[in-house]
Amino acid sequence: MKKIDVVILGAGPAGVTCAIYLKRANIDFVLIEKGSVGGKVNLTADVDNYPPFKHISGVDFAFALYEDLLHNQIDVQFEEAKEVKRENDDFIVTTDNETYQCKTVFFALGTKDLHLNVLNEEKFLHKGISNCAICDGNLFKGQPMAVVGGGNSALEETLYLSKITDKIYLIHRRNEFRGSAQYVSMVKSDPHVEILTPYVIKECHGEEKLSSLIVENLETKELKTLNVAALFEYVGAKPATDIISFKEVLNEKGYVKVKIDMSTDVPGFFAGGDVTDKKLRQIAVAIGDGANASQSIIDYLNSRK
Ligand SMILES: Cc1cc2nc3c(=O)[nH]c(=O)nc-3n(C[C@H](O)[C@H](O)[C@H](O)COP(=O)(O)OP(=O)(O)OC[C@H]3O[C@@H](n4cnc5c(N)ncnc54)[C@H](O)[C@@H]3O)c2cc1C
Repeated sequence: MKKIDVVILGAGPAGVTCAIYLKRANIDFVLIEKGSVGGKVNLTADVDNYPPFKHISGVDFAFALYEDLLHNQIDVQFEEAKEVKRENDDFIVTTDNETYQCKTVFFALGTKDLHLNVLNEEKFLHKGISNCAICDGNLFKGQPMAVVGGGNSALEETLYLSKITDKIYLIHRRNEFRGSAQYVSMVKSDPHVEILTPYVIKECHGEEKLSSLIVENLETKELKTLNVAALFEYVGAKPATDIISFKEVLNEKGYVKVKIDMSTDVPGFFAGGDVTDKKLRQIAVAIGDGANASQSIIDYLNSRK
């Protein structure tokens, strides 16, 4: 078992920012990540709302975060966290490779994508059905595709796919989109996008790979078949909090309840970014949370001396 002051879980924008601040304060910590530095940012085509970048691709943004870690001589432990539990005043974090005993945890594991749970969806996951247009869109270049969802992610990624193909069905179960007015107007005026509202997907079909969807108009109950090579799902997410053994820090939806300084009801357990109970889940907020948490962690460590 390794003993360390702080374990940072997740190297998305929140975790990376917290790590940089702690490094500059000479705090002893480990940064744990199971996938890629940058987290969900890697999945977005364009970031147009993080000042002062007027425009940067998600992958470039994620790479800039990685370069910032290198610049600050911060190593990432590429491990998957399996459990976080309390032991007296400390925490035990178990990964697939190591066990850490620490005084504080900064929990920034973000969210996991949800699926529709419709007929044959599971069969075609990664065989035409994906949650990441930027990762997989190019595989279906020039072919008809569908996007399902009504928020900014669905709208942004529809616009991204419109550069790759000239036929995209945007399917949403309500008549109104939740995303920003700017994106709504862009998809509405995009000649490659056919908007289907209020529609739901009932079934997915194909041989080895997805080739069609059966969709239903919720008002008329009329069914249609859409011939598509790919379906990109943006239908919400759930917080990655299953591994926390002390559930009192979670709200009814499983998000971590945090105070203004990123602390929780459990002393020493801090959280930030998309995994926390908040209105806006965006890069700017996650980065702010990481910075904010670092100062609270430093104060907490000082209080334990
Ligand atoms: C398609 C899409 C488009 C978006 N577009 C924008 C945009 O234009 N502008 C904007 O501001 N925001 C955008 N966002 C939102 C933005 O990406 C998130 O708000 C931000 O990434 C949250 O950062 P985070 O650090 O809280 O979590 P994340 O970025 O989710 O990072 C969490 C990290 O934890 C890791 N992890 C999870 N579980 C484990 C485990 N058990 N062990 C170890 N590591 C683990 C993950 O691999 C991940 O790297 C978009 C999101 C999506 C999905």
